[in-house]
Amino acid sequence: MVEDYAWWRLSIVFPREVEESLIWRLQQLSINNYAIQSFISSKSDPKLFIWLPEFEWEEKERSFLTRSLCELSEPFDSNFGSPVWDRIQNEDWSQTWKIHWEPDPVGESLLILPAWLKVPTIYSDRIVLRIDPGSAFGTGSHATTRLCLEALERENINGMRIADLGCGSGILGLAALKFGAKSLFAVDIDSLAVNATLKNACLNDLQENLIVSKGSIEALETNLMGEPADLMLCNILASVIEDLAPKFARILKDDGVALLSGLLVEQVSDLKMTCHHLGWQVVSQKNQGRWALLEISKRNF
Ligand code: SAH
Repeated sequence: MVEDYAWWRLSIVFPREVEESLIWRLQQLSINNYAIQSFISSKSDPKLFIWLPEFEWEEKERSFLTRSLCELSEPFDSNFGSPVWDRIQNEDWSQTWKIHWEPDPVGESLLILPAWLKVPTIYSDRIVLRIDPGSAFGTGSHATTRLCLEALERENINGMRIADLGCGSGILGLAALKFGAKSLFAVDIDSLAVNATLKNACLNDLQENLIVSKGSIEALETNLMGEPADLMLCNILASVIEDLAPKFARILKDDGVALLSGLLVEQVSDLKMTCHHLGWQVVSQKNQGRWALLEISKRNF
């Protein structure tokens, strides 16, 4: 995406332990154009880059933003680096951030590979999923995405029909296909995500097994054409999941399983209650840092 206007680019080093709350805060502020430079092999603190349209972000708003980010380190007794603001003409931020992303092994057997890189020899025995997220969420580096990917690796999903609600880059559903699922039905309310999912399916030669469209759970129901899915993936915010939960039964088989992520650990008990009221059982809960994943089903385990 190259917009014909200037950007403010914020660069700021931040303490590693703040990463999850930082991503959470950016989501709350509806800031989607960001990148995190974090070299897996290095111990130095990661760096955040944010691109903001210049005409929408005056100095007052920008200093409010840096303050609201920097306060996140207070509970950890650590500090952000000094913020650096650069005014950039027409930078294609969706391309620029790519220089900051490395091949990322997930679980025992998966490798999320930036689409423009070769498979490093040390990972040659892994199942490779090539991803170019463009401007959609889902590089695999966020704990909520990893929780889902690790759960997919544990489940036996061979031959299954998968529903991916809020597909972002398509990373979850496409990984499910790589793990042996038969078909993928994906939706997202963001058309950039729909494009990214299609592009990533093509990168991995999985387009034949995919139906993706713009929309939410209703579009998913239409695409499933009366044959509900075996497994549903939903990594969105807790409040959105709460709203969507009453409709889950429409897109899942009676013995189907849903993997719900995007939840902070402290939000889990409310969601569990909602699930119970709707007749779902909580099969398992997994946590990673402050984030949680719930596996729910109507089946008796
Ligand atoms: N599945 C990816 C992306 C998760 S980000 C991953 O796990 O990494 C959440 C995605 O949900 C975003 O792309 C957002 O556009 C989408 N989304 C938010 N609300 C939605 C809704 N009500 N219905 C469908 N998609 C939604």
